[in-house]
Amino acid sequence: MSKPARPVRVLPGVYAYAGRLPDGCIHCMHGSKIVVFVTGLCGDRCFYCPVSPSRLYHDVAYVDEEPLEALWDVVDEAYRVGADGASITGGDPLARLGRTLRVIKLLKEVFGDDFHIHLYTSGRYATTEALRLLEEAGLDEIRLHPTEGWMLERIERALQVLRSVRVGVEVPVLPDRVEELKQLIERLDRMGVEFINLNELEASERNMRQLILRGYRVSGSKPVVEGSREAGEAIVKWAAERGLRISVHFCPAVYKDSVQMRLRLVRKAMRIRKSYEEVTPEGMLQVLVTRGPGAARLAAEGYGEECGGSVYCLSPRLRGRVAGKLVRRYPALRGGALPVEVEGVAEESDYSP
Ligand code: SF4
Repeated sequence: MSKPARPVRVLPGVYAYAGRLPDGCIHCMHGSKIVVFVTGLCGDRCFYCPVSPSRLYHDVAYVDEEPLEALWDVVDEAYRVGADGASITGGDPLARLGRTLRVIKLLKEVFGDDFHIHLYTSGRYATTEALRLLEEAGLDEIRLHPTEGWMLERIERALQVLRSVRVGVEVPVLPDRVEELKQLIERLDRMGVEFINLNELEASERNMRQLILRGYRVSGSKPVVEGSREAGEAIVKWAAERGLRISVHFCPAVYKDSVQMRLRLVRKAMRIRKSYEEVTPEGMLQVLVTRGPGAARLAAEGYGEECGGSVYCLSPRLRGRVAGKLVRRYPALRGGALPVEVEGVAEESDYSP
């Protein structure tokens, strides 16, 4: 007897899934996760890897968009974002297991057990001991990316060893390898894996040449491989029709930037902005930059402050009331220094009530 089909939920350009969305994805959708890039080191050589050349295979660490200078920076960033979780990524975080464990323990210690942490790894270094240490540190969810056939054994091992950590798989959708991907999903389903996340295949500075050499066509303002989204959505429907127990979720590339990342930037900018700074819909901060006695008077009245060289940063709401207006936008970064250049600011501006 065939298994009953499961409902498919599709919001075009946002998600398509059958089954239950992984917890890590729910936090991402709210923009309430920080991203900790623990190391660029990785033992794999995936031709489709989109990680930038300045990071991949280098032992560098970042939290969100900024270099990680001290471990405590992850806590600082989580406070700034008002985060309720973290995504640990790389490279392969297990290539620097000690650092990864310290990050997980610190976040759990400061923010408590409910702070949700998920981690990506190919599984190459997922030994029994490494998995046990990750569980002890408090990891909530692990997403394995088997880059070679033998790594399925690593997934089996994770299922056997881990008790409180949810085990899933995450892979990009190569539009010419759909049958292979379906076979993998059926196998994972039989193994009892809880979920698989399918990512739209993104083109980047690093992988563009390899993708084109292999005959993939790339298009879009955020470049993606043509056919990857259609194939991903079709696989979700196929899995639902077959009544597979494994949850299958497709995540479009544009969603990562236009929703997840933007929401995180907006959350952070709203929390750290000064009273006169305005938050743009993209999550940037903006001020009106000007100089002159009118500007000085407005700053003294609390509409802004001096930001160097007799230049004043004022509330953009004063547009139209101050001559020589120049709006500057800048990302909400740690340290909060205004990246304002004095060059080009109007020589004289005055308050026009
Ligand atoms: S395993 Fe991940 S980080 Fe490593 S090369 Fe492959 S895609 Fe890139």
